[in-house]
Amino acid sequence: MARRLRPRPWQEAIAKKNQRLLLRLIQEQDVAVQKAVRQALRDALSILDGLPGDTVGPIVRRSFYEQRRAALGDLATSFWTDLGQVAISNAGTASQVAMNANLQVLSTLTRGVGPGRAGILADSFLASARRTHIDLRSRLLNSIDLAPSVYRNQAFMRGTIDRIVNNGILLGQSADEIGKGVRQYINPRTPGGVRYAAHRLGRTELNNAFHTSSSLAYAESPFVEGVLWNLSGSHPKPDECNSYSDENSYDLGVGIFPRESIPPKPHPQCFCFLTAVTPDIDDFLRRMKQGEYDCASVL
Ligand SMILES: [Zn+2]
Repeated sequence: MARRLRPRPWQEAIAKKNQRLLLRLIQEQDVAVQKAVRQALRDALSILDGLPGDTVGPIVRRSFYEQRRAALGDLATSFWTDLGQVAISNAGTASQVAMNANLQVLSTLTRGVGPGRAGILADSFLASARRTHIDLRSRLLNSIDLAPSVYRNQAFMRGTIDRIVNNGILLGQSADEIGKGVRQYINPRTPGGVRYAAHRLGRTELNNAFHTSSSLAYAESPFVEGVLWNLSGSHPKPDECNSYSDENSYDLGVGIFPRESIPPKPHPQCFCFLTAVTPDIDDFLRRMKQGEYDCASVL
């Protein structure tokens, strides 16, 4: 008979609490990104400040522009390199939050265990989960390679600024006009501009680190019977996330995946999150005492 797994309220509470911690981390990062974009705008304007006007000859004027263009390129490079470092460091925190969620589930399941053999078993279960987490986290963090996306964004920003400056020179624009073009591109308020790209990279990395850590931790947790895919509210159009949360693909219940088969995030900026479903506390304790979870394999 098909099983219908649903998370208990306390399991939902743990998942939601840690999802909120992730969102707070993302918000803090967004604020830092916003600040960095504003600083980049100020830096870009000061690089462009004092560009020679029409009073100097075209050759001198052109060499000035070349210099400034190179400086703006360096600015783009360091902006994205710095952002990549911030995102990596926050991804480490996001991963920790995800692992904590798994540990909180296990702690809740083992909370009522008294002393004696069951207590020793529960303690060793918790200790081995902690060790597994440390191992999973270090493997995950070593595997994150932001270089390609940082490079892509750097190249795009450099290319865009180059185009603005070059077009300005070709069209004989004044320094003010060229400055205006650059300002518009870097301005945090410009839709689809630098800030959008920076938020997208940062948010996607944090969500992925969180999701991958949750998936890895649950896959290694024999007490997790299934994992619920919670659809985030930020899906204006139906996408793969809707089918993950609405379909009963594994006959375990709607939106439930086996712990080893949790799909990766299907698109950037996905804010969906997972809830681990376990047996009831009594059932868990009975199975643990019977050796069903085979602590030795986790130890
Ligand atoms: Zn999603």
